[in-house]
Amino acid sequence: MERRRIRIGIIGGGLAGASIANSLSRLPHIAIDVFEAAPEFSERGAAVGLSPNSQLALQELLEDSREALKKAKSVPIASTRLMVGSGPNAGNLLMDLGDAAKEDPELIVHRASLLRELLAPLPESILHPNKKMTSIVSTDTGVKVFFADGTEYEFDAVIGADGVFSIVRDYVLSDKSKQYSASPAGFWDCRVLVPFEKAKKALGEDLFKLDRQYGWLGEGAFIMHDVLENGTLVQCVISGVEDEPPSDRKHTLTRDFLNKALANWLSGPIASGVIDLVMEQDDPRGYSQWEHKATPTYARGRVCIMGDAAHASTPWQGAGSGQAFEDGMILSALLSHISSPGDIEAVFKVYDAIRRPRGQRVIDSSRGTGEIMCGKSDAGLDPGKIMQALAPRWGFLELDFKSYVQEAVHKLDESLSA
Ligand SMILES: Cc1cc2nc3c(=O)[nH]c(=O)nc-3n(C[C@H](O)[C@H](O)[C@H](O)COP(=O)(O)OP(=O)(O)OC[C@H]3O[C@@H](n4cnc5c(N)ncnc54)[C@H](O)[C@@H]3O)c2cc1C
Repeated sequence: MERRRIRIGIIGGGLAGASIANSLSRLPHIAIDVFEAAPEFSERGAAVGLSPNSQLALQELLEDSREALKKAKSVPIASTRLMVGSGPNAGNLLMDLGDAAKEDPELIVHRASLLRELLAPLPESILHPNKKMTSIVSTDTGVKVFFADGTEYEFDAVIGADGVFSIVRDYVLSDKSKQYSASPAGFWDCRVLVPFEKAKKALGEDLFKLDRQYGWLGEGAFIMHDVLENGTLVQCVISGVEDEPPSDRKHTLTRDFLNKALANWLSGPIASGVIDLVMEQDDPRGYSQWEHKATPTYARGRVCIMGDAAHASTPWQGAGSGQAFEDGMILSALLSHISSPGDIEAVFKVYDAIRRPRGQRVIDSSRGTGEIMCGKSDAGLDPGKIMQALAPRWGFLELDFKSYVQEAVHKLDESLSA
């Protein structure tokens, strides 16, 4: 008799949920359903940068990821140029990161376009928008999931990809969930997308001769701009140090607030132009950056968490979605190795052991990088010291995925044969 497929419910259809759905939907012994709370699967926010490492992880999940990234109109970042943004040295070059001639450059892509391409290969029958999950109960035979519309589903396992304020995380961490919930990281940011020509006019032609990402470091803040959507749009970001985070994570932006946050920048070459662009949008808002300071486990029984539900991080190293793709890569490799729902608990335990230390390292490193970028580290705004401080921060993100997956599968084999 043919064995029935292992049924997995994925809660959340953001970059994490949609990417793992691609790899799991190709495993013949697994059946998945993806539930998204919003009326449509959609990505808010502007752009996401994908390092070569993140692209490799995505390649493990998506059948033709290069083509998908092309269709999403990703733009290669020829290089990242770091400049001094405030004070007497404003306008000076700090350093160029990356190599314009590199074969595998970082890519920058509009979030909505990337999500659209991640969803495109998935059959509509497994995608369930307008399904806000409210609670989870473990049963003798699996996991029951309840939704706000009164429906319930039973699965052999559940993967929570429901973002930073994850309800699945609350279930996984149980009585410790409050203690380990996300909290402010000490920074805020705001962003705007503007047509390329408008950005060129506001910020100066010289900054747009190459598809280059610019980062401006200065007192208490950081400004970034990069080109996306095949060179038709520019994303501008202002981030700053946040001493008193608002309780609901967001605040209405005023010109007065931005002028105060960038007080020592205003006579420099970049801040006034970016402030103008940010303030021209409807309802400009600033958002606090929140993160998980620690997480005691990513799994409980047949339920696990991935992506921002497991390890929400500040965006300073541009590594959040790459980490979600790595979660998906490891989970898919492990799930491809089992044939019975009885082995899922072992899979999730190994996933937790392999992924949690790395997820936490990224969170901590990213926060530290933000401190350097806003002139708050011991390096202050000394160009030489900043270069020294930043140089070693990205290396650990590069990983030999083949050995990483092998290590996970080996651990699973050991656990299943014990
Ligand atoms: C400002 C900013 C800039 C960033 N820049 C970068 C970058 O350049 N590079 C990079 O790699 N990363 C970056 N990141 C991080 C990256 O965006 C995230 O790590 C990634 O988007 C997380 O995806 P996710 O699917 O885990 O979470 P989310 O995108 O939050 O998706 C969760 C989904 O779950 C749904 N959901 C929530 N609750 C429920 C429920 N109860 N039932 C059903 N569905 C539910 C939500 O509606 C949502 O669609 C940045 C993050 C921020 C905040």
